[in-house]
Amino acid sequence: MPWVRIDGDELRVEDARIVWTPAVTANAEGIAFWLRASGGRTVMHIAGWAPGTSAADLDGQDVRIENPGPDAGVDGRFMTNARVRFGRVTSDRAVVSVDGQVEALEPSDDSIATFEADLVCTVAPMAERDHCLGCGGPLDRYAATRDEFVAGFRITQRVLPVLCPNCVGVVDQPRFCPTCGTAFAADAVSTHGEEGRTGYTARCVQGHVFSGALPG
Ligand SMILES: [Zn+2]
Ligand SMILES: [Zn+2]
Repeated sequence: MPWVRIDGDELRVEDARIVWTPAVTANAEGIAFWLRASGGRTVMHIAGWAPGTSAADLDGQDVRIENPGPDAGVDGRFMTNARVRFGRVTSDRAVVSVDGQVEALEPSDDSIATFEADLVCTVAPMAERDHCLGCGGPLDRYAATRDEFVAGFRITQRVLPVLCPNCVGVVDQPRFCPTCGTAFAADAVSTHGEEGRTGYTARCVQGHVFSGALPG
């Protein structure tokens, strides 16, 4: 059974997954990965970067994370450092052990707790959303690159807009699935509030779910 332990206390883990994407740094090809373990709620999450071109390249790697940043935590506490050891990794499954340190829950308490985890994760590439939400057309030609920091590494990621230039300012709700480009059925789109704007949740016939607001 997979587990996460913090100062020896075991937290229940029902699901662990790794999502990855190609991420080039100034001097190396690599992949950025996001690991999340949950058991009803998120128990542990951590992001990292490793050399390679696909998930299988993580096989046998020992990744030290010196700057976990705000995107990493265990049981609601911030991580101060971590070491992620990948055992057997294939394109869809990874055996991972993690250990490291986290801050105390109270800001006034400067003690450090240790944590360790043994997980079997599902592995998947980050979903590519390369169809326009308004017309279903391809977005590849509008790709841009953006630099961001993951675990202290400055990486360059390829990003796509959600609407093509023809649909910006014209489309008032998601009409086509961004993942596969099929039209959403009228009753498959619902609205919700999202940070003061109208957010949409839509599910296509293939089961892809879009959730978010439209730009502008
Ligand atoms: Zn469009
Ligand atoms: Zn779809």
